[in-house]
Amino acid sequence: MIVMKFGGTSVESASAIERVAGIVKDRLMRRPVVVVSAMGKTTNKLLAIAAAAVAGDRAAALTQLEDLHLYHHREGVGLGVETEIETHFQELAELVKGLAVMGEMTARSSDAVSAFGERLSSIIVTAKFNQFGMESQHVDARSLIVTDHRHTQAAPLFAETYQRLAEKIPALAATRVVVMGGFIGSTMEGVTSTLGRGGSDYTASIVGAGIGAEEIQIWTDVDGMLTADPTVLAGGYRVKRCSFAEAAELAYFGAKVLHPATVLPAIEKNIPVRILNSRRPQVEGTLITAEAPPSTTPIRSIACKKNITLVNIVSTRMLMAHGFLRRIFEIFDRYETPVDMLATSEVSVSLTIDHTGALAEIRREIEEFAEVAVEDNQAIVCMVGDNIRTVPGVAARAFTALKEIKVRMISEGASQLNISLVVAAADLTHAVESLHREFFSNPDPAAFE
Ligand code: ADP
Ligand code: ASP
Ligand code: MG
Repeated sequence: MIVMKFGGTSVESASAIERVAGIVKDRLMRRPVVVVSAMGKTTNKLLAIAAAAVAGDRAAALTQLEDLHLYHHREGVGLGVETEIETHFQELAELVKGLAVMGEMTARSSDAVSAFGERLSSIIVTAKFNQFGMESQHVDARSLIVTDHRHTQAAPLFAETYQRLAEKIPALAATRVVVMGGFIGSTMEGVTSTLGRGGSDYTASIVGAGIGAEEIQIWTDVDGMLTADPTVLAGGYRVKRCSFAEAAELAYFGAKVLHPATVLPAIEKNIPVRILNSRRPQVEGTLITAEAPPSTTPIRSIACKKNITLVNIVSTRMLMAHGFLRRIFEIFDRYETPVDMLATSEVSVSLTIDHTGALAEIRREIEEFAEVAVEDNQAIVCMVGDNIRTVPGVAARAFTALKEIKVRMISEGASQLNISLVVAAADLTHAVESLHREFFSNPDPAAFE
């Protein structure tokens, strides 16, 4: 069995879904289990509809809902699932009207709304596959992916989820293509939950691990992991192979092509992950395994994260006092605000966050014992490569390449496979260009294309 996950753009229209059907059909021998995202930008639209409803703009919410309905109807017409689409939109309309009445949205109701994207896309894709002559079976992912109660960011309960997957999927996949939505799950009590934005990749790897798949394929709109984020720098190379550790680091530091948690289940069961382009299925993509073959290019790729806030904390009073860091981190922890990067000196701590919702409260608490300065509009640039560990001089080359740019903060992960820098957002493109030129002017053809 293989798991094949298709992202939003890969299933954005009837013709895109037909292309997907062709790709799956060519791999029927490998007994594919298909995981799909919501069609196109549906998740964003659903969340915008919910936001308009709770803001009291009921009319706007219902108009946008009607647009989304027409879109799904148009792309799904002629597949024999018109009534099902209709029923889903009726249910969704009730929910949206309820939100407008309540005027507030909980994380739980947000999940109830955003889950409709994958609920609908998986039904439409299954119907299309059947029409295409592939016997296919829709499975509601919410009956298999069991999560905790942290709505909008739920974590899977692995033992229960793996047990359900193993009981249900292999038997079905023996005779037909199983299709399910990514991103969505439910709590033990059966309440709809989601795994966080971009979570369909994670669903694919959870399913892969749960059924002992031979490979997890992430089909998307680029040729694979590229040497730079294409939204920041065009013309990056395709990374042919990378290790689980490199992929995890790249995803964590902003390479949106993979959800950061994706590789964890794959690592646990040692299942290769492949990133592929649904528009150019002939391209080999990127193969991610425990170890990648050595390359003469010291780094594998440059990831970046925009919209970063830098927090500088200074306390002369805390000079050499123990417990300083603990106190700071307890505060970030209490406000559920993850810290991405950290640098310390004797009297100061600099750190970066990308969720600023609770920053005012955090700041107030820290100011009880230290001075705080906040700078927003920052970006993280992260060079990743297993070779950073063994090849000397990578950092020196990076700093020479960046000599014209003010680097605000530097950190080398304990894993020694990344070097991360903070620069002003306005300098991001220049920084990535400079680093890319330094490290990928002459890339090892065995490792990049
Ligand atoms: P999907 O809808 O298929 O899940 P995503 O939009 O979530 O697709 O992820 C694919 C996108 O990730 C690409 O279109 C690209 O803009 C972005 N991306 C960011 N960094 C990288 C990178 N290093 N390599 C490839 N793609 C990247
Ligand atoms: N549809 C969800 C999102 O847009 C999950 C995904 O596409 O991976 O975040
Ligand atoms: Mg994605």
